[in-house]
Amino acid sequence: ATPTALLTGTGRGAQLGILIKGPQILESTRAVDTVVLDKTGTLTTGHPVLTDVVTAGSLPADAALKAAASVEVGSEHPVARAVVAGARERGVRLADTQDFVTLPGEGARAAVNGMVVTVGRPSLFDVVPEVLHEALARAEGTIVLVGWEGTARAAITVADTPRETSAAAVERLRGLGLTPYLLTGDNARTAAAVAQQVGIDPTHVTADVLPQHKFDHVRALQEQGRVVAMVGDGVNDAAALAQADLGMAMGSGTDVAAESADIVLMRADVETVADAIGLSRRTLQVIK
Ligand code: ADP
Ligand code: MG
Repeated sequence: ATPTALLTGTGRGAQLGILIKGPQILESTRAVDTVVLDKTGTLTTGHPVLTDVVTAGSLPADAALKAAASVEVGSEHPVARAVVAGARERGVRLADTQDFVTLPGEGARAAVNGMVVTVGRPSLFDVVPEVLHEALARAEGTIVLVGWEGTARAAITVADTPRETSAAAVERLRGLGLTPYLLTGDNARTAAAVAQQVGIDPTHVTADVLPQHKFDHVRALQEQGRVVAMVGDGVNDAAALAQADLGMAMGSGTDVAAESADIVLMRADVETVADAIGLSRRTLQVIK
């Protein structure tokens, strides 16, 4: 491979909004046969909106929302943004918090008026009242729980939709000979709905995946002899992006994801993934 042609390829990439971190990366795209796509912020817009609040006992919905949003204001996660925006839209005023912590791939936690409030996946709570179990079972979208003292007090649903371009982009990836997989920390029902909408085989969907297991999943595919491109946007995707043969980060996502990736896509849609792989292959053809 001549360095000049490789550099021209990376220059063309920059014009298309594809930042390739060095000419050698074009080489790794050649053998890629599998593309693992994160759901939230990658296949979907990543801008879910608040759609429902269900509370247990006599807790008012606005009180639950106030507790949740006061914690989530400290988080960059799309779910957190939807909770905060939804609370503000409903005129809920946020409380002051201390000791905010992110629980990657699971939720967030902070002290609100001296009480430790947790927001996130059901597994973060020791006790989940029956009414919230029912809400979890029928939720259309991503549902998170908010609670304190080990007990979940309310369920908040936010709904995210696939980007308009995702289905066509998945089709193009197939056209390039790549097998698409969907990997998400979100629940199985939401994951299956998105997979169906964008045209990913239901048997290639893995849901409820913790960040460290995204990494394991990429490695397991590699152990099957696959050459894996991973596309993601979040802190939770960083380890998997680094492990993949080709890590591609959405530029709209977090800095940690961008730092762990080989390619950063300035245009946030899966179409750009197909552009990047297509460009790399064309560049390599010119060189040979
Ligand atoms: P994805 O793989 O779809 O990008 P993540 O791994 O980022 O999803 O998150 C997985 C799940 O963890 C989310 O669907 C949500 O239930 C929960 N979660 C993560 N961060 C937060 C947060 N800040 N607030 C509430 N829930 C969260
Ligand atoms: Mg994500």
